[in-house]
Amino acid sequence: MTTTTSDAMVQVRGVHKRFGALEVLRGVDLVVPAGSVTVVLGPSGSGKSTLLRAINHLEKVDRGFVAIDGELIGYRRSGGKLHELKEREVLRQRTGIGFVFQNFNLFPHLTVLENIVEAPVSALRQPKAEARRAALALLARVGLSDKADAYPRQLSGGQQQRVAIARALALEPKVLLFDEPTSALDPELVGEVLDVIKDLARTGTTMIVVTHEIGFAREVADTVVFMDGGLVVEQGPPAAVLDDPQHERTRAFLSKVL
Ligand code: ADP
Ligand code: MG
Repeated sequence: MTTTTSDAMVQVRGVHKRFGALEVLRGVDLVVPAGSVTVVLGPSGSGKSTLLRAINHLEKVDRGFVAIDGELIGYRRSGGKLHELKEREVLRQRTGIGFVFQNFNLFPHLTVLENIVEAPVSALRQPKAEARRAALALLARVGLSDKADAYPRQLSGGQQQRVAIARALALEPKVLLFDEPTSALDPELVGEVLDVIKDLARTGTTMIVVTHEIGFAREVADTVVFMDGGLVVEQGPPAAVLDDPQHERTRAFLSKVL
């Protein structure tokens, strides 16, 4: 496909999205190389969540496209035209795109282990025993081996978010998207969740993380993207964007959050 950049895991090209009169994304371009971490910063309402939702086709874009590992998301190209994929095919594509939400979104009536094995068994048709083995390994990875049989309500917010990360990893996604994964947590629980994400970064997981945690961005991001008004205003290595921002809007934002 001509749209593929060799090592790009995620490509967002010229993406526009409008809700009624409000143009929320106004031509967003973003390339995320395989194995890299991109942190997205920006004021409330700048379009960060809409961008993440557009990447996994929870929002259909009005213009532009998204590709993951060279594959268009939500569409296929044929005869020079774009054809929308059937819901079933979009769901298949979404299994390759992990999503971690601000509010964890665990199934309250399922145990921790059941939360993790649900998607691999139902969406990927993994045998139950195999899915359970993988889930237990993931729980060990996020430091929650002793919580397999607990219910979400019995866990702290930080523990619930670590389960949500394990659940996302269970589908062996090509990319993990995080939408303010620590914003709903008490301050003392933020670190344990960021530590899990840092560990994933070290092992080469491709990630896009929307967060206001500037220290985390500085330490973990390969690229920091600053969005405002539905556009990428500035992007680059953390030292450039955070310590020497070129745009007044970036400076104004950082002066508020730092
Ligand atoms: P951020 O995550 O940066 O705070 P969002 O992407 O959530 O920003 O929202 C950007 C703008 O789009 C906001 O003004 C929001 O109110 C609006 N918006 C988001 N989703 C919808 C929707 N489904 N319908 C109408 N407006 C929306
Ligand atoms: Mg948001």
